Amino acid sequence: MPELPEVETVVRGLQVLLPGRRIAEVRLGKTDFIDDVAKLEEILPGSRISSVRRHGKFIVLLLERAAAAPAPSQSAPGRFHFIVHLGMTGRLTVFPPLRPSPPHTHVSISLDNDTELRFTDPRRFGRMLVLPEQQSASVLGPLGTDPLEISAQEFRARLATKRARIKAVLLDQRVFRGMGNIYTDESLWRARIHPARLASALKHEEAARLYRAMQQVLRAAIRLGGSSISDYVNAEGQPGEFQIRHRVYQREGKKCSRCGALIRRITVAGRSSYFCPRCQRAPRQRPE
Ligand SMILES: [Zn+2]
Repeated sequence: MPELPEVETVVRGLQVLLPGRRIAEVRLGKTDFIDDVAKLEEILPGSRISSVRRHGKFIVLLLERAAAAPAPSQSAPGRFHFIVHLGMTGRLTVFPPLRPSPPHTHVSISLDNDTELRFTDPRRFGRMLVLPEQQSASVLGPLGTDPLEISAQEFRARLATKRARIKAVLLDQRVFRGMGNIYTDESLWRARIHPARLASALKHEEAARLYRAMQQVLRAAIRLGGSSISDYVNAEGQPGEFQIRHRVYQREGKKCSRCGALIRRITVAGRSSYFCPRCQRAPRQRPE
């Protein structure tokens, strides 16, 4: 599933390809992941894409629509957010003209330079919607702080208030937006913290270590274009390379590269969690 580094990679690619382009036409296949299909079909054609950014795991395109004479009230002028979540298997890719669409392409957006922005998603756990700019807080507002924008002090303070497993806290999009299973497990291994530890019980030094590990893992993953486990590709259709740097994620039974113990998998917060039983000591049975 695409997480912060994968979505960031897609966004950086789209930032090169999309701003300034005008949407000519939209063609839809299956639409069960679109919030309001009629709205999308109304707003996208004729809109100009002015910017692309990431918000957590959401991709946010700012669209601008000029008021069309003679009935501006009918033509929905103004600024809109076109919001896309890739879900488990979504891809948002710009194709050169005439390239055939891959299977499971559900949205094809023709642009004024004859390229096409296509959304492909075999499992359709993604999400897509268009909202007036001032209403997008209803979707994006509840999300927590971006882990790349929080300070070490804020991060420690946030953890100190959470009497939940550190794994669950890192995955909770209302606390930190953008983390997922891969980068949570990789950060915890680097910081030598067991995923079932209570966030509020982490020592000052442990929380500081986790903060540094998270920054390093996320930035290294962005540099390598994210992790391609199954479906993820960037905006030009290329896979990422960070999966070769994974130390624990999906490495059950393999040796820990730090101590040689065998990596284990347990379920924490309802999610598979990979860890080294020697480097990442389990919490005591009594509540910490
Ligand atoms: Zn180890």
